[in-house]
Amino acid sequence: MKYTKQDVLRLVQEEDVEFIRLQFTDIFGTMKNVAITSSQLEKALDNNCMFDGSSIEGFVRIEESDMYLYPDLDTLNVFPWRPQQGKVARLICDVYRPNREPFEGDPRYILKKVVKQAAELGYQFDVGPECEFFLYHTDDNGQPTTITHERAGYFDLGPMDLGENARRDMVLTLEDMGFEIEASHHEMAPAQHEIDFRYDEALTTADNIMTFKLAVKTIAKRHGLHASFMPKPKTGINGSGMHINMSLSKDGKNIFADDCDPNGLSQEAYYFIGGLMRHVKGMCAITNPLVNSYKRLVPGFEAPVYIAWSGTNRSPLIRIPAERGEGTRIELRCPDPSANPYLVLAVCLAAGLDGIQKQIMPPAAVDRNIFNMTEEEILEEGIDVLPNNLLEAVYEMEKDELVKEVLGTHTSRRYIKAKKKEWAEYSRQVSGWELDQYLYRI
Ligand code: GLU
Ligand code: MG
Ligand code: MG
Repeated sequence: MKYTKQDVLRLVQEEDVEFIRLQFTDIFGTMKNVAITSSQLEKALDNNCMFDGSSIEGFVRIEESDMYLYPDLDTLNVFPWRPQQGKVARLICDVYRPNREPFEGDPRYILKKVVKQAAELGYQFDVGPECEFFLYHTDDNGQPTTITHERAGYFDLGPMDLGENARRDMVLTLEDMGFEIEASHHEMAPAQHEIDFRYDEALTTADNIMTFKLAVKTIAKRHGLHASFMPKPKTGINGSGMHINMSLSKDGKNIFADDCDPNGLSQEAYYFIGGLMRHVKGMCAITNPLVNSYKRLVPGFEAPVYIAWSGTNRSPLIRIPAERGEGTRIELRCPDPSANPYLVLAVCLAAGLDGIQKQIMPPAAVDRNIFNMTEEEILEEGIDVLPNNLLEAVYEMEKDELVKEVLGTHTSRRYIKAKKKEWAEYSRQVSGWELDQYLYRI
């Protein structure tokens, strides 16, 4: 615990905070908030702030719509981009039912439950994300476009890189908010960027990803740009991933490392990989939640397609970065930044723990570039593929009892229903591609 209730009240007064935003996230990963003035803060800190949950997607039925917000005191943060007088702060909240039971449709609660299961086995789950995004121009009405005038590529630097000033400002703002930024760079595609912040315990990382996206979007807007976390905004160039670097520690020591193993990995690390590989198809509707997510998971753009792991190669789904010792980690490359980070980390941890508990050994590592292998070679190696589209992913999720159990009945039902509807709406659309292909010829 960093802050007590008294600390929060004092800090808010000292900093001259006028508004406090009580934030939470819906099951689809959209941040929501209720703003209160500082006069209402004490009531909120006593967990007596209510909101009407019926209008939030995936929340509740009309007749039980009132929900309580329980602020997590440690998440107090003053927005650096708001006025310096009459400042605005935020508190991230847990959602509770009127009977004071945690609400099972709250993604933060879903993650907390799995983190607790891990803790009961003596594990702490640490996660470092790599968020990629595009910075596009806005039109005369301030609406986002997919237009960019820059042509820079991987690790390029200014003056080619027009987004560079914006990215610099984002890094400084995030640092102001307490983030430790480890690296930031231009990514492969024009207008594509990445900012990496330090790993932390899973719940903090999920909160951080939500804060990160808000900060990046806010600062982009100040620079007249639009930041988009859409997984694949353009055909033919790289999409944006949110690779997840994971490790388990016991008594403060990383347990994925083992010097005696040829790959430098412990038995638990192998089982964790085995668990991820077993469940990844069922997890995809969470890690890659949009129709558009599956346009990224195609060969040729540094995004994974095949379910394989490697210590050296970047083409598979799971990579083991070179660092060993305390930095030993497993990188899962399928998640994209449109996903709900709480649910992503919940299913990743649960799958890894399932691997450990059931002692699931992964197949041998594939250290060749899978994209250079022929289809026969891939089949011979017994390499499976990720779902081809959102509908396939939803069917896989329906088959995966572990994933459904992690989400709970309330959330998995609503989630599956909503994703089927999204797919149905999409598949009814006649696209530009179809007109190009068929109108003239047929
Ligand atoms: N943008 C790539 C993706 O879609 C990843 C590039 C990288 O390795 O950083 O996952
Ligand atoms: Mg990257
Ligand atoms: Mg990576």
